[in-house]
Amino acid sequence: MQLFLNDYGWYKGNLHTHTTLSDGLLSAREVISYYKSKGYDFLAITDHEKYYPGGFEDNMLVLPGIEIAYNDNVKRIAYHILGIDTDDGVRNYPEEGWQGDAQKMIDHIKSHGGMAIVCHPDWSLMGVEDVRRLHDYDAVEIMNVISDPDARGNSANFCDALMARGEEFLTIASDDSHFYNGDAGYSAIYVNAASCEKKDIMEAIYAGRFYSSCGPTFKSIRIENGYIYVSASPVRLIRFMSDNFYTPYRRHVCRMTANSAEYPIGKMDNFVRVELEDENGKRAWSQYIDVREFK
Ligand SMILES: [Zn+2]
Ligand SMILES: [Zn+2]
Repeated sequence: MQLFLNDYGWYKGNLHTHTTLSDGLLSAREVISYYKSKGYDFLAITDHEKYYPGGFEDNMLVLPGIEIAYNDNVKRIAYHILGIDTDDGVRNYPEEGWQGDAQKMIDHIKSHGGMAIVCHPDWSLMGVEDVRRLHDYDAVEIMNVISDPDARGNSANFCDALMARGEEFLTIASDDSHFYNGDAGYSAIYVNAASCEKKDIMEAIYAGRFYSSCGPTFKSIRIENGYIYVSASPVRLIRFMSDNFYTPYRRHVCRMTANSAEYPIGKMDNFVRVELEDENGKRAWSQYIDVREFK
């Protein structure tokens, strides 16, 4: 089974972007033209508590978006939830917000037809149990560039623990770009979709037919005869991370050649994700692959 469809295209996008409508430094028009110049096909503009309706602007697909955020400075935990492709009713919510009730933020986004994404859990100092008590969220940011790709921006270990507890969710990398300091254009999701129309992009994202990257690219991921076969751009490492902690050599690292690897699905594996790392330490992340029926 191939995870990606050969006759579909690949579209590059960023789902978390700020403008001068909240705390970003560039106007929406400037942000769109910057991302266009970097080869992106689509963008979601997600300003704090400000709904952006989107559409086709300057030949770029702009998805409707919002980020609902609450920082609890007493408990020292932040709850930031992205709403992507919501209707415009999402802008109507109580003036005082929900005081950190993240479930109400998610319910609000879902009731307006959107995809709900839990942002930057490590930056937010969230524990796995803080997210486990939530439900109906669609995705978690595995990478949030502005939070520092080499430190709290990388929530991969957090996501693995959350998945191991039995949650099921998509993972995305996003720039969370404010145009402060190298945040814009650092990461992307690459979506394998029928076209760059909104409905096809959203269908592919919900179906998990995409991966996230700060550099390296996946060419194919195939599951056959109890193995996962991966082919990628030239990389230094291909890691297979599962929800099983035991492996004979204490690590799930594998590099058969510079750009391909195979992984025998273990008896104890329920989910496996693949992570690429190139010579510059830049990474890419597949979705979690449910391997239960392939053992
Ligand atoms: Zn945020
Ligand atoms: Zn943000």
